[in-house]
Amino acid sequence: MNLFYTLLLLCLLALLARWIKSKEAEWIGSYGEYKVRKAIKNIEATSSGKYKAFHNLYIPKQDGSTSQIDHVILSDQGLFVIETKNYSGWIFGDETSKYWTQVIYKRKEKFLNPILQNKGHIKALRGWLGEEFAHIPIHSVVVFLTRAKFKSNAHFAHAYVVYPKQLKQVLEQHQTKVIDRETKERLAQKLETVLAKDKTQEKEMKKRHVQTIRTKQKQTEQHIQQNRCPKCGGVLIVRKGKYGTFKGCNNYPKCKFTQSIG
Ligand SMILES: [Zn+2]
Repeated sequence: MNLFYTLLLLCLLALLARWIKSKEAEWIGSYGEYKVRKAIKNIEATSSGKYKAFHNLYIPKQDGSTSQIDHVILSDQGLFVIETKNYSGWIFGDETSKYWTQVIYKRKEKFLNPILQNKGHIKALRGWLGEEFAHIPIHSVVVFLTRAKFKSNAHFAHAYVVYPKQLKQVLEQHQTKVIDRETKERLAQKLETVLAKDKTQEKEMKKRHVQTIRTKQKQTEQHIQQNRCPKCGGVLIVRKGKYGTFKGCNNYPKCKFTQSIG
């Protein structure tokens, strides 16, 4: 009988371990998100109305898709668009390369350059805000958690790359008032319209966001199969390069689209 219980206990422990492992990334992700949100809420609460924060915004784009933004802070100095990154390990990257590198336990992983990613968010936000708010400065901020060690000493001209506790410093670097009270209020009202009102709506927005991304990916794949350039509509031609065979656009060098053929 004793053996039976021991085995049962071992089984349960194994299941528990597997469950924890499957949830790990999600937990670390939400913990990081929680830390940044807390830092922002703290700044907001102690600013006596100077800063107003908006979390998890889905900005509609012209093509019917949406751009998801982690946080936006509204101030008299303009808007701060914040992208959170939950990576740990050593981070290498510069402002213009398409990918950055994470090095952890001697393993290297590539991820999309968060500055370029945030640039896309800001472009979507600008497009959606329209002419009326075209004069408002928008500042780009990428926040890494302290688990990440930033290893490049590259200088970033168009974005801040910081840890949560440096956020306040970033905001305070901007002191010149560029928005009047009325404009600030109208901006706040407009930003309210792209926030999820409750959990259900948030889920719905997220679902639609993911769906449109998938549809777009499928379209891109179809175009490539039919040798149509997904970027400019040109014709794709099979070429041989240093790194193997690839499809390239006939509008090169104007269009730099390429797709390697494995
Ligand atoms: Zn092209």
